[in-house]
Amino acid sequence: MTHVCVHWFRKGLRLHDNPALLSALRECKEIYPVFILDPCVHNKDAVGVNRWRFLLGALQDLDGSLRKLNSRLFVVRGKPQDVLPKLFLEWGVSRLTYEYDTEPFSRSRDQKVAERAKEHGVEVVYKISHTLHDVDRIIEENGGKAPLTYVRFQTVLKNLGPPKRPVPAPSVQDMKDVRTPCLDSPGAKEQQYGLPTLDELGHDLSGLQEVLFPGGEEEALRRLEEHMQRPGWVCSFEKPQTSPNSLSPSTTVLSPYVTFGCLSARTFWWRLTDVYQGKKHSAPPVSLHGQLLWREFYYTASVGVPNFHRMLDNPVCTQIDWDTNPEYLAAWTELRREGWIHHLARHAVACFLTRGDLWINWEEGQKVFEELLLDGDWALNAGNWLWLSASAFFLQYFRVYSPVAFGKKTDKQGDYIKKYLPVLKKFPAQYIYEPWKAPLSVQQAAGCIVGKDYPCPIVEHEVISKKNIQRMKASYAKRSQGVPPSPQPNTGVKRKAPSVLDMLKKKTK
Ligand SMILES: Cc1cc2nc3c(=O)[nH]c(=O)nc-3n(C[C@H](O)[C@H](O)[C@H](O)COP(=O)(O)OP(=O)(O)OC[C@H]3O[C@@H](n4cnc5c(N)ncnc54)[C@H](O)[C@@H]3O)c2cc1C
Repeated sequence: MTHVCVHWFRKGLRLHDNPALLSALRECKEIYPVFILDPCVHNKDAVGVNRWRFLLGALQDLDGSLRKLNSRLFVVRGKPQDVLPKLFLEWGVSRLTYEYDTEPFSRSRDQKVAERAKEHGVEVVYKISHTLHDVDRIIEENGGKAPLTYVRFQTVLKNLGPPKRPVPAPSVQDMKDVRTPCLDSPGAKEQQYGLPTLDELGHDLSGLQEVLFPGGEEEALRRLEEHMQRPGWVCSFEKPQTSPNSLSPSTTVLSPYVTFGCLSARTFWWRLTDVYQGKKHSAPPVSLHGQLLWREFYYTASVGVPNFHRMLDNPVCTQIDWDTNPEYLAAWTELRREGWIHHLARHAVACFLTRGDLWINWEEGQKVFEELLLDGDWALNAGNWLWLSASAFFLQYFRVYSPVAFGKKTDKQGDYIKKYLPVLKKFPAQYIYEPWKAPLSVQQAAGCIVGKDYPCPIVEHEVISKKNIQRMKASYAKRSQGVPPSPQPNTGVKRKAPSVLDMLKKKTK
């Protein structure tokens, strides 16, 4: 119990299943829980206001939970490699703990921080808890390459066994010999390390709608339990059978909580296992376990495939001659209101932007999702865009979503459309998916003239989608002549407890 420890929250904004935090508490006499508002990550303009609100809610919740344990959250501003060394000196820190993060940006940041820590004689301890497994182990188990199909992925996972059980949240008992200094000196310290408000961060709050998905661990666990209280629904869950355009979500909407780590994926996994116990239940890829495996699949691919988030120099991505069309892109951009849409609705809009209709590079859509989705996640966003644009993983480019037929299947009356586009509220169901086909008299009666009150279509789907299928065919033909179809194998040597610095260096190479 000799250490003075900083536990650095980045993702993993929770107390439950936080092995790095728990290990800090077990061996320290003083703990400083820190969150760093890093201008490179928490950029006001690159992250939408809804997402900021979610993050601040999650931090407030975390601070509240820490205070119940006689601690608190210290919110610090600046680049981690600059601000942490100052804190090491100011607080006399001897150990830094955090949850391991696989994103390339995070790995290079963590390497810089680990170097600074070494210079200051601070030991770094990290634990893996953002994913179900150690994704590097999955890659090793697959001969040094990321599995590129779900079936292969499942085979590899079988050899690893089930994910580890989540560790419990720290209790007052765990904190009995640990103190957080500065707690009893509010005033200046509070101002220096307090949470900012959206206003202080300079956000325009005028367009903000009511909070549908409040950030934080408490809400995440409440939401999880609410779903787990419906064992019939959980056991029969099949993703393709859920509705993309129901008025209230037909899936869990736990994704923002999992992305920010308010909910641990392992806790989610094991709660599902409990509910499944002794009952007939659906199976991957369509079950809820299967959804968490999709997450793990993309995380693994994002670690094993270089330049995963872009087309250039990404060895699994088909090279396609996308058009540049800012007008179409602007017409497509949406999601501002709630920050979440159903997975199949994401399918439809992603297909429309890329290979289906507008022929715009999936990286543009990825940027918009990253800014506006509450659950915006580097690996999942890139992996799913690669899939939907038929650039990788999914090769049936000739299967295109029709913007008219797709919605009709599950919402004949167009209630979803009417909710989000009240201007079309009075349109008869017959024309709701194609208002431009309604006779002028119908448009007049509905109080909405297409071309004046509502935009005309920007493309003719039937025509453009056929042309685009031919363009995809040409890209695939080129691909089969040249670009390598799978990532180069790493020279996978079994790891033997490397130092943090060695590991981070290896990973950033
Ligand atoms: C183009 C596109 C971009 C996407 N970008 C993101 C993103 O940035 N962040 C994100 O979390 N999801 C992303 N997804 C995946 C998926 O749409 C969301 O995870 C899902 O809709 C979240 O809703 P839910 O929590 O109700 O999911 P549920 O169906 O309840 O699934 C439970 C959990 O499983 C995981 N999951 C479900 N589907 C997927 C999937 N296809 N891929 C990976 N993990 C999945 C999520 O963590 C989710 O919370 C994207 C999908 C598409 C098509």
